[in-house]
Amino acid sequence: MGKVLTKLTLVLAAILLLDNVVLLNKSQLSASIAKNQLIVNDVTGLNPIPVAMVIKPKTELEITDAIMATSGPISIGGARFSMGGQIAYPNSLHLDMREYNQIIHLDPANKEITVQPGITWREIQQAIDPHDLSVKIMQDFNNFTVGGSLSVNAHGRFTRAGPIINSVKSLRIALANGRVYQASRTDNPQLFRAAIGGYGGIGVITEATLSLTDNVVIERSTRSMHFVDYLDYFKTKVLGDPTIVLNNALLYPPTFEDVLDINWRTTNKPLTNNQRLKTYNPDIRWKPMLVDMVSRFDLLKRLRHNLIDPALFNKPAVVTRNFETSYDLREFGFVSDADSTMALREYFVPLDSFEVFVMKMRQVFIRHNVNVLNVSIRYSPRDRESLLAWARDDMLSFVIIYRQRKDEDSLQRVSTWSRELIDSAVGTGGSYYLPFQKHASRESFFRSYPRAGEYFAFKKRVDPDNRFNNMLLDQYQPDADATADPSPTAAPGSNIGWRPYAYPGVPYYAHPAYQVTGWRPVPMQPRRP
Ligand SMILES: Cc1cc2nc3c(=O)[nH]c(=O)nc-3n(C[C@H](O)[C@H](O)[C@H](O)COP(=O)(O)OP(=O)(O)OC[C@H]3O[C@@H](n4cnc5c(N)ncnc54)[C@H](O)[C@@H]3O)c2cc1C
Repeated sequence: MGKVLTKLTLVLAAILLLDNVVLLNKSQLSASIAKNQLIVNDVTGLNPIPVAMVIKPKTELEITDAIMATSGPISIGGARFSMGGQIAYPNSLHLDMREYNQIIHLDPANKEITVQPGITWREIQQAIDPHDLSVKIMQDFNNFTVGGSLSVNAHGRFTRAGPIINSVKSLRIALANGRVYQASRTDNPQLFRAAIGGYGGIGVITEATLSLTDNVVIERSTRSMHFVDYLDYFKTKVLGDPTIVLNNALLYPPTFEDVLDINWRTTNKPLTNNQRLKTYNPDIRWKPMLVDMVSRFDLLKRLRHNLIDPALFNKPAVVTRNFETSYDLREFGFVSDADSTMALREYFVPLDSFEVFVMKMRQVFIRHNVNVLNVSIRYSPRDRESLLAWARDDMLSFVIIYRQRKDEDSLQRVSTWSRELIDSAVGTGGSYYLPFQKHASRESFFRSYPRAGEYFAFKKRVDPDNRFNNMLLDQYQPDADATADPSPTAAPGSNIGWRPYAYPGVPYYAHPAYQVTGWRPVPMQPRRP
């Protein structure tokens, strides 16, 4: 009897101990979450958003399990360069996609690549350059993820290539029902058109197959002119010239009168630089310092226009397409400190409104004393596919890099001039780009994106509980109360809504409770070799 009692006491003690350990861990966990609130922020540091939990999936199954094991909001982040809360939502489960970044399949013969969306362009360029292949459409820098680029429908300097949707063959997307779907122009085409440029509101892109192109040799040529001469020059000399692979023009601050047009044409000439891709050397500090100095002094902006750029651009340059498209943002530095930050804007206007828009933009910049570092002008043909298309017509776009302070008054002033420019662009039949700070009124948003209603209706169909959310979508979704602000103060972890898995033996994604009728989910496993 004594022995039995001793054994029972030991078992009881062990249970109590175990329970204590578990309790200790739970409270330690919540204390640590409460202490270092999980903050998701972007490159400007202007949008700290406390989320409930961050996970870094490495497999598609982890993504679908995370969707199915929770019932609260989910936000998705790539490289975190979008700067208006597009990557997070208060108290959401945040999927940090940066470690989901493998190449699944490279097919050099068919010039296509299938990747996980957390991969960056740089990583893709490193893999395809030995095959003399090149990314068809990407931004000017190669630090962005494929998932983030698809979700804003990014574009670059590729003269007639337009937005990235034009280079996408197919996607796999995990929806709110926890199942994964194939989306392409023939398979679930509406899903394809909603997800590309869809800012993570439709589901999680888990895979993308992209067309590649040849890594041709290109030669630079430049031409300076007054802005009033630019449109004619562009229409006659650039648009009609099929040998021009890359084109952009710089409109120089602080006067915004002189334009430098920069073309890269295919050539048979020998390379002036044999380097395959640009390399990032953290020890080279002069470029970020120069960018910082130019952003502080108008005199240096004039020097750049009159001395530095002519010296840089008048040198003969014959390089590969991969070399010229492998700029690393770290090399230039994205200045952002406690008091001020660089930031971007982009406005799109129909070609024939070019001159009127430049005049309005100059007035706005000068009147509001905006510290503009760079205005880059690019062309994009009409996008007939994505629901949130930013180019409803053939457009010239103005990408503006400026520096702003972070105090309330400065934020307010940026909002004022930004709205003025949005109104000007929208007034010409144009639009503005959504990855940046979100100052546009609802009216300007819906005028810029007239198919947004269709986008939100489709979202409601595939995500009826509005699980995929972020600050951008929340602001403009049709049911939004414009004055309501989602509370960022609720206790961490309170909103995720973990739910126990109730169907042992049945994978989440296969459970019949979660069906989107009429669509064929694609098998999750096995994957391609
Ligand atoms: C210095 C600078 C230069 C830029 N230049 C250009 C340019 O030349 N051309 C251009 O078009 N844009 C440009 N941009 C904007 C840029 O393309 C976007 O901000 C882009 O989204 C950045 O990619 P990211 O990986 O940082 O995505 P993030 O900012 O992290 O995410 C962007 C959106 O994608 C969603 N998302 C990310 N991954 C997934 C996924 N797997 N599934 C579903 N949704 C997902 C997020 O929820 C978010 O809504 C520039 C931005 C900066 C800061």
